[in-house]
Amino acid sequence: MKTADDIRKLAKDEDVAYLRMSFSDLNGALKNVEIPIDLLDVALNNQVKIDGSSITGFLPIQNSDMYLYPDLNTWTVYPWITTGGKTASMICDVHNSDGTPFVGDPRFVLKRLDASLSEIGCGHLNVGAEMEYFLFKADEAGKPTNQLNDQASYFDVYPDDRGEACRRETVNTLKAMGFSIVANHHEVAPGQCEIDFKFDNAVKTADRIQLLKLATKTVAVKYGLRATFMPKPKSGVNGSGMHLNTSLFDDSRNLFDDSNAKNGLSELAMHYLAGILAHAQAFTAITNPTINSYKRLVPGYEAPTYVAWAIANRTALVRVPDGRGPQTRFELRSGDPAANPYLAIAAILASGLDGIKNKLTPPKNVEDNIYNMSTEQRSTAQITQLPTSLPKALTNLQADQALFEALGSVTSKYLQVKQTELTRFQLSVTDWEKQTYFNV
Ligand code: GLU
Ligand code: MG
Ligand code: MG
Repeated sequence: MKTADDIRKLAKDEDVAYLRMSFSDLNGALKNVEIPIDLLDVALNNQVKIDGSSITGFLPIQNSDMYLYPDLNTWTVYPWITTGGKTASMICDVHNSDGTPFVGDPRFVLKRLDASLSEIGCGHLNVGAEMEYFLFKADEAGKPTNQLNDQASYFDVYPDDRGEACRRETVNTLKAMGFSIVANHHEVAPGQCEIDFKFDNAVKTADRIQLLKLATKTVAVKYGLRATFMPKPKSGVNGSGMHLNTSLFDDSRNLFDDSNAKNGLSELAMHYLAGILAHAQAFTAITNPTINSYKRLVPGYEAPTYVAWAIANRTALVRVPDGRGPQTRFELRSGDPAANPYLAIAAILASGLDGIKNKLTPPKNVEDNIYNMSTEQRSTAQITQLPTSLPKALTNLQADQALFEALGSVTSKYLQVKQTELTRFQLSVTDWEKQTYFNV
């Protein structure tokens, strides 16, 4: 645990000139305000002020002063800023002017839920994320073109994999920021990459997802490319997922592991899993938050479309990857990297917790290819379909009282923000419509 004095020393020893105070809005966009390092004490005294009315999902204009409380343990120097002074960042919690935590701060929502686990003797949540993204070529103005960076596929090597150097620099950047990288590779679709980093507690992983997205986009620009985490940037090929692997730990003991139980999964694990399956219809509105997200959740592209669990089958929503003991975990395959990671992880945790509290039991695991099953086979196996559009998912979220209550008032704010987005989409005329209907 770092102290204010540790931060003062780090700033001095590392010759830092600027500090970025970072936080995330309701949509998961990373925001920051930069201060010169001679004002470090203002930051350490939690006195950096923001206008909450200009941040999506935060406060109304008439009551908009908010304060950033930096989490000292998130201190990191941005390796890509090499001129004009070294720049460090700290991720902050957002507080109201009376000093109380702001309940609409996504990081607070996750912190509060994670802390509630220890109250019921369930330790804390660990999360591992698999981050997929695409590299597109940029034009002379730096704008993304429609041209993918390469035509390579899964695990391909140079020279087919044109993203190798850029990905390596991204990984080195992340390592310099304190990430433990587990793997990086070309993914199935042309121009698609994946970077995986080691699991950690829920808030740390959500913070790292935010920093990984920033670093990946920043490094890509250096290579004349643009990185995108949008879930389905190109039709006809795989989209980008953000698989989230979750497990409950009491200190260093994995509470999902039970070598004497069926499939090596403890009773607690089965209740948690049942909660995930029971609330999937609703939390999809958070793990898959955009109109574009639902163009990824279609059959044939390694993304789940049905609510089921499996040991190995990649067409299921939840999989139990190889590895028991400390590695025992559930991989949720539906989430995408457009999701606000704090809210997405909070929604998964709230669902699992509901399963634990109500001792829910999951249906049987499904090891057949679900895409190929008939409607009757699916209904016998109690397999339901994931929502096929954002409006459907939002309706499900609205109707899920347990999830709504567990996440708190942020949920109604979230629904409002998303309804506004849908209205904007409804009013826009797309290229596809022009092409398809021009000659009617
Ligand atoms: N890109 C796939 C998706 O949309 C996942 C591929 C994989 O299993 O890693 O989720
Ligand atoms: Mg992958
Ligand atoms: Mg995976």
